[in-house]
Amino acid sequence: MVEKPTAAAHPCFDVKARHTHARVHLPVAPKCNISCNYCNRKYDCVNESRPGVCSALLSPYQAVEYLKELDTHIEKLSVIGIAGPGDPFANPEETLETMRLAKAQFPDKIFCLSTNGLNLKPYIDELALLNVTHVTITINAVDPDIGSSIYAWIRHEKKIYRGRAAAEIIIKNQLECIPLLKAKGITVKINSVILPGVNDHHIEEVAKMVASLGADVMNCIPVLPTKDTAFEDIDKPSGPLMKEVRKVAKKHLGLMTHCSRCRADAAGLLGHDFTEAYGMLREYAMRPLKSTDDRPYAAVGTREGALVNMHLGEAESLYIFKQTPSGFQFIEERVTPPAGCGDSRWKDLADSLADCRAILVEGVGAKPLKILQHAGIRVIQMSGIIDEGLEGVYYNKEVKAVKMPDAFKCGDSCRGDAQGCA
Ligand code: SF4
Ligand code: SF4
Repeated sequence: MVEKPTAAAHPCFDVKARHTHARVHLPVAPKCNISCNYCNRKYDCVNESRPGVCSALLSPYQAVEYLKELDTHIEKLSVIGIAGPGDPFANPEETLETMRLAKAQFPDKIFCLSTNGLNLKPYIDELALLNVTHVTITINAVDPDIGSSIYAWIRHEKKIYRGRAAAEIIIKNQLECIPLLKAKGITVKINSVILPGVNDHHIEEVAKMVASLGADVMNCIPVLPTKDTAFEDIDKPSGPLMKEVRKVAKKHLGLMTHCSRCRADAAGLLGHDFTEAYGMLREYAMRPLKSTDDRPYAAVGTREGALVNMHLGEAESLYIFKQTPSGFQFIEERVTPPAGCGDSRWKDLADSLADCRAILVEGVGAKPLKILQHAGIRVIQMSGIIDEGLEGVYYNKEVKAVKMPDAFKCGDSCRGDAQGCA
């Protein structure tokens, strides 16, 4: 059984703690495995946030480094949560790794997760072992006919489902998780997004069902109509409607009414965010993806050793540099694996750069980008002076000549054939 810290320290579960205890959401989960008709993926998850672009995404290692600094700025930072900006269990590796690293650093804090519940079940045992004590599941309907007008599609076990089939699967998975979480001693909150004319008349049934399965508390959240979504023109629930919905839900279980609909990267007291955190987040997102203790070097795609001017796919070798007290020092030229070997080319490259914390190149395809990042190598796409890029790598400085990741189109300016680096 999970040993519960006192509820008084969780600002969302105890109204008295909201003015004294702070929380932070770590934005480590970018992907989502469902499509809610009220969500625009350019914005934060409506489950636990108000619309607004997440300031930055962090790797698990970056997230915990950020947390260490944040903890020195925020008094009584008692809750560490993951709430997107996608879904924690559409990104289970990142979510669990973040929890593991954070738990090792901060064993006394409360750990909290917010999910759509589709892929939660396989991870419940591990969450309990990690001493996650609070889980929120967003359940907008328990009737698949109503659910089918709320979810456009879901991706479950590598298949896409739509309509009633999608709603049946997600509702079944969500409901199954409640008793399993309770059996582990985890506090369960249910969020329901109130969609006038769609599920407002159905909330009592949701409340009754989740209460019968053991959920502890419910949070009825008025939908925020979001541009470019199926529900962009939906009416905002009126005050009296929300009052009525909460009144009927309350017949079945306790309600949370002070939810601030926090961003997926919120930090501070509820309703009084520590806004400096957003700048800090952006800075930590530029830091190494993994610990650099055993990665002293940086690799560079260059023709002559002065400028970053080669795309990864066309670089037959990379220059390797290291930082010294007297400046950056060239170490060697390292041959890259030959073209035409598919993914194994990039995996071999990642292995050969296992001692490098970053690579500077003029452009890179999506596949090698993902493989290198997964191996903990920060990929900086830029053109210009090598030293400027290396200062970004070693001193976490902004690199002026940096390119946006999607600014590079394969084949535009390299010798590639627009099929991606192979
Ligand atoms: S679960 Fe969250 S991120 Fe995923 S579609 Fe729904 S609101 Fe958007
Ligand atoms: S979104 Fe609501 S439940 Fe989540 S941290 Fe904010 S106040 Fe708490």
